[in-house]
Amino acid sequence: MPITPLMPVYPRCGVRPVRGEHCHLIDEDGTRYLDFASGIAVNLLGHSHPHLIGAIQRQAATLMHVSNLYGSPQGEALAQRLVDHTFADTVFFTNSGAEAVECAIKTARAYHQHADGDPARHEIITFHNAFHGRTMATISASNQEKMHTGFAPLLPGFRYCPFDDLDAAAALVDERTAGFLVEPIQGEGGIRPASEAFMAGLRRLADKHGLLLILDEVQCGVARTGALYAYEHYGIEPDILATAKGIGGGFPLGACLATERAARGMGFGAHGSTYGGNPLAMAAGMAVLDVVTDPAFLEHVRATGQAIMARLEQFIGNHPDLFDQVRGKGLMIGLRLTMESRPFYQHLRDHHQLLTVAAGDQTLRILPPLVIGDAEVEEFFERLSAGAADFRPPAA
Ligand SMILES: *Cc1c(COP(=O)(O)O)cnc(C)c1O
Repeated sequence: MPITPLMPVYPRCGVRPVRGEHCHLIDEDGTRYLDFASGIAVNLLGHSHPHLIGAIQRQAATLMHVSNLYGSPQGEALAQRLVDHTFADTVFFTNSGAEAVECAIKTARAYHQHADGDPARHEIITFHNAFHGRTMATISASNQEKMHTGFAPLLPGFRYCPFDDLDAAAALVDERTAGFLVEPIQGEGGIRPASEAFMAGLRRLADKHGLLLILDEVQCGVARTGALYAYEHYGIEPDILATAKGIGGGFPLGACLATERAARGMGFGAHGSTYGGNPLAMAAGMAVLDVVTDPAFLEHVRATGQAIMARLEQFIGNHPDLFDQVRGKGLMIGLRLTMESRPFYQHLRDHHQLLTVAAGDQTLRILPPLVIGDAEVEEFFERLSAGAADFRPPAA
């Protein structure tokens, strides 16, 4: 393969967006796409949202970056807001999801290597088909071979367990176990929600054995499911949580949230980031939380998600040859096909100007901006129906 100025790690498609308007992307030659991918669950306020733009513009003109050597009124304000709205007592800001998970892993290890802990507990149990990011620690945390190839040796300290299988998780716990790291709703894995029994069971196991429950809510967090964080649906609380993607609304921002107890190993000098929590990122995060913490907004996400899922259920009944199942929560919706999802995803994109995301387990991810209204929902079903009508699966 010839080398290109952009390192060719992504198989990029022919859509080349140059502008965004609310729930649409406009590409170089003027084609308009309905964006039900949202930069993979990132642009939750859609594109060109005035409140987010205003906040970023004002902050950019005031103070963009200072070092974490200085006090941070902006960081304190956003951290306090996250603390007020979640289980957490303390927050570390990052620039991405993988860094948020990385901080969560370090926080869990440091908890057990603390003077009051048991340093033998350094293994984290993770789950099949998980996705936690692309750094060395986060690829090591996933059992997916395709992300490991070429990058040996992996980081030790992870054990892989079947997803949503509580007995298997219980059987893996031993004197080396530090905790569990799990996506409450698997994203890349194919929009697979964990069962309530599984999540409650992991919480019980963690309590019983003195382990930490770490949630990766990088994709399912920040109002995507109709709750600020997905754990709220399960009636449990984690010890540590990684968040990113939607939290900056498109500005690079992530965070590792923790209880005071879980963060006991993270004292002075334990961790750091040059950009992490800079004033510009904090302004973006504040603007997003202004919108998504409004109970009426969360209700809008739940109601719109329910309406779309009910309609999708009906819709797939008319195409049993093509679709198998609808699953998800809020506006994190998976449409499982009877075949690999990629050809249909490409068909919707190239012939019906509808952007979704292909995922594992033959699933199409439907991740619209959370600000969609009736018009976008109608346009989505028009494009999807037309796409299902003229789709010809590639010969097997
Ligand atoms: C996207 C994602 C990540 C990685 O986030 P980056 O910002 O790409 O580093 C981690 N975990 C989950 C569940 C994700 O969906």
